[in-house]
Amino acid sequence: VTFESLGLIKPLLTAIEGLKYKKPTDIQQAALPLALAGRDIIGVAATGSGKTAAFALPILQKLWEEPKGLFAVVLTPTRELAYQIAEQFEALGSAIEVRCAVIVGGMDMVAQAIALSKRPHVVVATPGRLQDHLENTKGFNLRYLKFLVMDEADRLLDMNFGPAMDKIFKVLPKDRNTYLFSATMTTRVEKLQRASLSNPARVEV
Ligand code: AMP
Repeated sequence: VTFESLGLIKPLLTAIEGLKYKKPTDIQQAALPLALAGRDIIGVAATGSGKTAAFALPILQKLWEEPKGLFAVVLTPTRELAYQIAEQFEALGSAIEVRCAVIVGGMDMVAQAIALSKRPHVVVATPGRLQDHLENTKGFNLRYLKFLVMDEADRLLDMNFGPAMDKIFKVLPKDRNTYLFSATMTTRVEKLQRASLSNPARVEV
C-alpha cells in the first residue's frame, strides 16, 4: 500500500515525500480511505501509530478542495500535544499553505484572540481554553466548522474536559465530520462518541 493508492492529492504526496514517510502506517491505511469517503471515524490507536497524520491528511485534502472559513478544530488534552499536532498539520500542509493556531491554557488570551482573528484554517486547542474564547472573544465562532477531531479522548475525559466539550458540541454545525481517537475504548469514551459522532466507522490497530 502506498499513500498514492489511498487517493491523496499531489500537494500532500509531495509533503509526505519531503517528510520521508515511506508508506502509510496501519492506522493510516485503515482510516484514510474511510475519511476521504466522508465517514466519521473512531480510531483506537496509541501515540506513535501515526494517528495524527491519519486525521490531518483527510482534513487537509478537503481543505484544498474547498478552502473556506475556520475549517477544523482539534481538541487535545495537553499543551505539548497541541503544539506537536499543529506542527504536523503545518508540515503536511506546507504545499497548500495551511494556517494553524494553537489555543491552550496558561497562555495570553489577547494574543490568542489576535491569532483567531487572522482566520486560521485549523485550530488546535485544549477544550477549556477554546470554550473560554467561544464565550469571551468577539467575532469568534465555530458556525461553519467542517471537522472536529477529539485526540486522545480517554485522556480528555480523565482531565475533566467533558463539560467543556459538551458546551463546544452545542455550538457546532450538525453538518460536519467528527473523528475521535483514543488509546482505549472505555464506557465514558463510548458515551462521548454517541454524543458527537454520526454513524462512525471504527478502525483499530
Ligand atoms: P503520532 O502517532 O501521530 O504521534 O506519530 C508518531 C510519529 O510518526 C510522528 O513523529 C510522525 O511524524 C511519524 N509518522 C507518521 N506517519 C508516518 C509514516 N507513514 N511513516 C513514518 N513516520 C510517520
